[in-house]
Amino acid sequence: MMPSGVSSPVRAFHSVGGTPYVVAAATGAEVRDEDGRRYIDFVGSWGPLILGHAHPRVIEAVEGALRLGTTYGAPCRAEIELAEEVAGSYPGIEQVRFVSSGTEATMSAIRLARGATGRDLVVKFSGCYHGHVDHLLVASGSGLATFGVASSAGVPAEFTRLTRVLPLDDEGAVRSLFATDGTRIAAAIIEPVPANNGLLIQRREFLKTLRDLCAQYGALLIFDEVITGFRLGPGGAAARYDITPDLVTFGKVIGGGLPVGAFAGPRTLMRALVPEGGVYQAGTLSGNPIAMTAGLTTLRLLKEEGLWGRLDELGVYLEEVLEDVIRTSRLRARLVRLSSIFWIAWHAQEPPRSAEAIDRRSAGLYARVFHALLWRGIALAPSAYEVGFLCAAHTRAHIDHLGTALGEALAGIARDGSTGDTHVLQA
Ligand SMILES: *Cc1c(COP(=O)(O)O)cnc(C)c1O
Repeated sequence: MMPSGVSSPVRAFHSVGGTPYVVAAATGAEVRDEDGRRYIDFVGSWGPLILGHAHPRVIEAVEGALRLGTTYGAPCRAEIELAEEVAGSYPGIEQVRFVSSGTEATMSAIRLARGATGRDLVVKFSGCYHGHVDHLLVASGSGLATFGVASSAGVPAEFTRLTRVLPLDDEGAVRSLFATDGTRIAAAIIEPVPANNGLLIQRREFLKTLRDLCAQYGALLIFDEVITGFRLGPGGAAARYDITPDLVTFGKVIGGGLPVGAFAGPRTLMRALVPEGGVYQAGTLSGNPIAMTAGLTTLRLLKEEGLWGRLDELGVYLEEVLEDVIRTSRLRARLVRLSSIFWIAWHAQEPPRSAEAIDRRSAGLYARVFHALLWRGIALAPSAYEVGFLCAAHTRAHIDHLGTALGEALAGIARDGSTGDTHVLQA
């Protein structure tokens, strides 16, 4: 009925084998499938659910909003308040435009950057994901050429000609591109904490160099904080690194589990949008009152209850537990964590900082770990290159359970390659 049985590709278990569980219901940190099996969930719908599933205050607010109508096609109070909340939290923002997904946010931010600068080139970084915008579905070409090659069928080479792809963690590559093409670059877009191809934590110096070169050449720096915005804290990665981008994109957490994206910046740039300026952008369901209410309630709860601090503490605990498990096992791996985002870099001696540094044998090992954990009631993302998320509903007991299950799985793999689960994979 649905291609690969899913509405978004990684859900299909393609890289770990097997068949996805079909979810019947979820509350807090727990997901229940249609067969009645329960899992402690570290997927968190791939990032949005920082409060956990069906948080009572969010559900109550959404129920209240539903009774007032589901969409107006005109501004509404929750939308204005959410824009104020975002502008008051994140460095350098005066205005916010809401859309319905992260993909729309990055697509629109780049169009705005091109319109505002009158330039065409866009720089992105290998290993960063910015949604499925045609000209961002680009991988680095071979050799020294930074000309992008489409990473998806259906994207004409002509569409990717204006996209340059650079490696992360490499100031020299950024400097040399700006030296040759700097005055033609409209924008550089980057996940300041790349979390879509493992968790590739960058050095501040690298991000600072990019910031300075963009400023020097009149190019705009776009931080794609669709994952990190309001997850790392109210100021996202910008506050954590003390580096202010020109434009920022949001998604995931700001929607509180409903479909929301946003892009934002200073008024001097945002005024380039139609109708005041000439850059076209629109959306029938943009600023939808139900979605705005879920996002607003989520951000207010995070602030009121100081949940970022609690998530950081949980993250520290998770790191202690999992590092201990990894040390005890005989497998080489590194836990990488920032706040409530975590990932295990398999076969790694040091946390990788670029996509190229990730060991490509990870997928085979991870497939076994994944199924061993699922069998023990733990849901991680079904791909070695996806991160895990903690939410405010997780407890130390959940993390202990994860630690025990991972310990058993790794012991099985080290002993005889068996993980003790019944989801035996065919080679
Ligand atoms: C998820 C994600 C996107 C795409 O958002 P969608 O809502 O899935 O379209 C873009 N950028 C980053 C950094 C993301 O993590």
